Amino acid sequence: MSDLADAIPEDSAMTGADLQAAHAARGFMPHAEGLLLHRAALAAGGGPMLEIGGYCGKSAVYLGSAARHRGGVLFSVDHHRGSEENQPGELYCDSAVVDVQTGKVDSLPHFRRTIEETGLEAWVVAVVGSSPLVASHWCTPLSLLFIDGGHTEEAAHADYAGFVPHLDGSGWLLIHDVFGDPADGGQAPFHVYCRALEEGFRDVAAEGSLRVLRR
Ligand code: SAH
Ligand code: MG
Repeated sequence: MSDLADAIPEDSAMTGADLQAAHAARGFMPHAEGLLLHRAALAAGGGPMLEIGGYCGKSAVYLGSAARHRGGVLFSVDHHRGSEENQPGELYCDSAVVDVQTGKVDSLPHFRRTIEETGLEAWVVAVVGSSPLVASHWCTPLSLLFIDGGHTEEAAHADYAGFVPHLDGSGWLLIHDVFGDPADGGQAPFHVYCRALEEGFRDVAAEGSLRVLRR
């Protein structure tokens, strides 16, 4: 990794309660990767941040806790209907996240509960809708963009194309589920990561499948 890794502070501003809430929240964010999210958000320094893929709020706790410490806000975009792999009958479906009345995935109540219990409502804003729709109306410059939404090629590239133009010149781009080896996972986030490198981003840090980049 480049010397830019020095730009990411080692110290965590997460309280014990935040750490516990992040652990307890349902989701797909290993703790070590969550801590890197948090540190990158501290380094991004207080501006508006946006994540695609809020799910039940796990990553939002790591990012939102940095917003509380530094100022700033996290917009968490998700239609809360789950990705392909979260649908009933699929590998990553959690039955607790399926609405018993409609039979549809609905992670919004879980997201809300996580953010409420962590006391992060003043720093984390749920934006409920499909990412390309939100992107097509988005105007606010972002200090950090975290892509963790749909994993089809179409969805992952649309997230990148829709929101990277709103990233500040020196903004931080974070991509989750980057697997160089197809045996380890789907390739769309990896292809988006390669596209970012081709388009002038540089590696700053990595942990597990999380990549942190800057221009
Ligand atoms: N960051 C989360 C995990 C995200 S899972 C964590 O820390 O646990 C991926 C999420 O992306 C799902 O909740 C799904 O609903 C959402 N998603 C997938 N495609 C989307 C799209 N096109 N627009 C908005 N949200 C989407
Ligand atoms: Mg992910």
